[in-house]
Amino acid sequence: MATQRFQTTIAGSLPKPGWLADTRTLWPAWRQAGPALEEAKADATLLWLKAQEDAGIDIVTDGEQSRQHFVHGFLEYVEGIDFDRKVKMGIRNNRYDAMVPTVTGALRLRGRAHQAEARLMRTHTDRKIKFTLPGPMTIVDTLADDYYGDRVRMAHAFARLLNEEARGLEADGVDMIQFDEPAFNVYMDEAVEWGIGALELAAEGLRCRTAVHICYGYGIEANIRWKEGLGEEWLQYEKVFPALAASRIDAVSLECINSRVPARLMALLAGKDVMVGAIDVASEAVETPDEVAATIAEALRYVPRERLFPCTNCGMAPMDRSVALAKLQALALGARLACDKIGQ
Ligand code: ZN
Repeated sequence: MATQRFQTTIAGSLPKPGWLADTRTLWPAWRQAGPALEEAKADATLLWLKAQEDAGIDIVTDGEQSRQHFVHGFLEYVEGIDFDRKVKMGIRNNRYDAMVPTVTGALRLRGRAHQAEARLMRTHTDRKIKFTLPGPMTIVDTLADDYYGDRVRMAHAFARLLNEEARGLEADGVDMIQFDEPAFNVYMDEAVEWGIGALELAAEGLRCRTAVHICYGYGIEANIRWKEGLGEEWLQYEKVFPALAASRIDAVSLECINSRVPARLMALLAGKDVMVGAIDVASEAVETPDEVAATIAEALRYVPRERLFPCTNCGMAPMDRSVALAKLQALALGARLACDKIGQ
């Protein structure tokens, strides 16, 4: 009997083609406007859908081709935020400064945020679709507040909007909704105290699979410096994983390859699906299938094989397009190789 293959997926984002937006940057300016921009976003989404299928990725995403940034792509659809009132704020515990908009009133969703992308994907692929949304705690860490006066209250307000959009995405045919919460790695106590509760509120009532992605960020300089100061073993997950294991979220996506995260921490996620980062997004060096298979083999010591989903460490948005494509192929080939090795 053939060994059941691993189901591969990616954290979420992929580079934008040069005809859609500026390349190799985290906040790319669009190179189109009006109806031409909408057309170019849809074209890029279909292009990456096909590229993921051809590479052999099983659970595909829209590559976040319609969003300038993983947080603000959603916020554009939220009333109560003044984008003209941008202030400089230290985010992720002052790891870096960002110009962030200000919450000035009660929050409300201005219609659906991502219906067009979700329906486009559902029409064009038979594979499972994963859709990413920013998590409530990461959103409140990426905004200035001049209305709620309380981070938890504001997080809950965002969680209700995320839930509204997530239910819509589920109705559009999305198979898995993933909330991105890099802030869980920065504010570990608060993540346990209220971050996971806000996340569960965002996922409330969903029948599709739910996931949370936590990581050490893109390969930007501020993140590289931060990681250098974290010591020999990165233990941030140690605090959050047991609380996530006790939560209603189905799956956790984490960084593994080329990180100093001890693989044993994955044992703290008993009962959850684990999306194991086997592709480094902070390096342009393309992994060999052997390297990917070795990361999977190490994770298998702590994660049952039916719960293990080979994945990327984080989004690939700021990378070179041809490198990202080669990394997709390496991920799928490495997952097959790992499967063959077990089958022997
Ligand atoms: Zn990430």
